[in-house]
Amino acid sequence: MILLQGKGVSKGVTSGPIYFFRRSDATVTKYDAPDQAAEKARLAAAQEKSIEQLNRLADKCREEAGDEAAILFETHAMFVEDEDYVEAIMDTLAEEGCNVEYAVQCAGEQFAAMFAAMDDAYMQARAADIRDVTGRILNNLMGVVEGGIDSDVPVVLAADDLAPSETLQLDKSKILGFMTQGGSGNSHTAILARTMGIPAICGLGESLKTEMEGRIAYIDGETGKVALEPDEITLTAYNAKLKKQQEMKVLMDTMKGQKDVTLDGREILVYCNIGSPDDLPAVLNNDGQGIGLFRSEFLYLKATDFPDEETQFKAYKAVAEGLNGKRVVIRTLDIGADKQVSYFDMKKEENPALGVRAIRICLNRPEIFRTQLRALYRASAYGKVAIMFPMITSVWEVKECKRACAKVMEELKAEGIPFNPETEIGIMIETPASIFVADALAKEVDFFSVGTNDLTQYTLACDRQANDLGKFFDPHHPAVLRAIKIAADAAHAAGIWIGICGELGADISLLETFLAIGIDELSVSPSSVLPLRAAIRKSIAKTCTLEKLES
Ligand code: PEP
Ligand code: MG
Repeated sequence: MILLQGKGVSKGVTSGPIYFFRRSDATVTKYDAPDQAAEKARLAAAQEKSIEQLNRLADKCREEAGDEAAILFETHAMFVEDEDYVEAIMDTLAEEGCNVEYAVQCAGEQFAAMFAAMDDAYMQARAADIRDVTGRILNNLMGVVEGGIDSDVPVVLAADDLAPSETLQLDKSKILGFMTQGGSGNSHTAILARTMGIPAICGLGESLKTEMEGRIAYIDGETGKVALEPDEITLTAYNAKLKKQQEMKVLMDTMKGQKDVTLDGREILVYCNIGSPDDLPAVLNNDGQGIGLFRSEFLYLKATDFPDEETQFKAYKAVAEGLNGKRVVIRTLDIGADKQVSYFDMKKEENPALGVRAIRICLNRPEIFRTQLRALYRASAYGKVAIMFPMITSVWEVKECKRACAKVMEELKAEGIPFNPETEIGIMIETPASIFVADALAKEVDFFSVGTNDLTQYTLACDRQANDLGKFFDPHHPAVLRAIKIAADAAHAAGIWIGICGELGADISLLETFLAIGIDELSVSPSSVLPLRAAIRKSIAKTCTLEKLES
């Protein structure tokens, strides 16, 4: 038996073949290719495959985000066979007698440079499309798998680490579990695993080796243990846990349709965190009472260029309508720190978590902000949408956000486009500054939602991405819990509601503390809704104490 020990970041046990994530960073080398007919045949096959993939993507997009997004992929598909582009590839082949990968790369660079040099900003932005299409053809020529998984059966996905944008593009129906060498429990990849409700382990380090590919791994996302060829004792324990997991699921199903209310009648709303309209079925299946955090940056992370108003509107509208009148809190884009998007063209920062991220980008680049706000307000006509701003530190930021909202509402009114002028506006409480000025902030907004992932990071000066901070990264630290209490008292004094949408919200060991603090809503990954409901229904709010704030 081989036993690996990492950090469990998403609960549950599973087993399946290990599959290593393939990154599309294969480098192109030039070599002589005397059989030019064969090179041309390879090009034709790669073009055909690229077009097929792009058409599939366009169909998927049309279902999820509407025509505008789909058109982008259809345009990419047309470019694969663009006459001038193909002619440039053929010219290089004829002149150099080289391999087709090299010829495709040259044509891609030539066309991207040509578009980038144009005066018109729209045409300049097309350079990214050319690179994207070229990359796709190259991947198909070199056998790099789109979505990272070339397996007919579901797998336990292994990787050194996964960027949020990589995780988002994975074919989730093929993933039984995740395990990574690096990463941390607060990384967005871990958060995504929890949203999907699949076991995940990070921080396995060098013990996770590519040679292990294909072997069956038994993973436990709670203890962080991975076993290969388990001995009898380990296998018996694994099977017992699996059985318990299945029984628990049946038990949890009995919680569906029940209220989130304590034995003494205190209601605390249990909402869900999502990252994409794809997560909506998980919210409904787990009977979430609403969505307390829709991380809208998924739209930006998935795209190769700024998603336009229509694309965003359709995505937000789909979620608002899908919730049938229940509240959906959509957070404006929170790019930066670990969520990097190349087309934003951001400067490299020494400390990106302390840099130009989230609301700072929106306030610095009003056009990006305006597009998103227009899409959000338009979607507000189709459900109970609330808008939330991330990484707030100052009252002036909130005032500026509200001015941007007012301007957008004026525009929509003038254009005769429907929207809800009563749309709630809230902020994330995730910086120490927002705690210190919580009383003033509370007077400006309709709700607070505590982002405990960042609040812990900034309060304790501990990088949430690092996996070696051990006991120093302690979300249960009284400083964090006291900060939440200060925010809650300020919210209630101003007559607004307060929720928690960071990962701590799902921590049942803190439920009584949150009840004592008076938290009104907990927003958690969909798979945590029913266990949390079961715990709430066993609690007595009036006997809950603030003891944990003292220690
Ligand atoms: C948080 O910081 O707790 C939060 C909910 O936002 P994110 O994890 O996306 O930064
Ligand atoms: Mg945050």
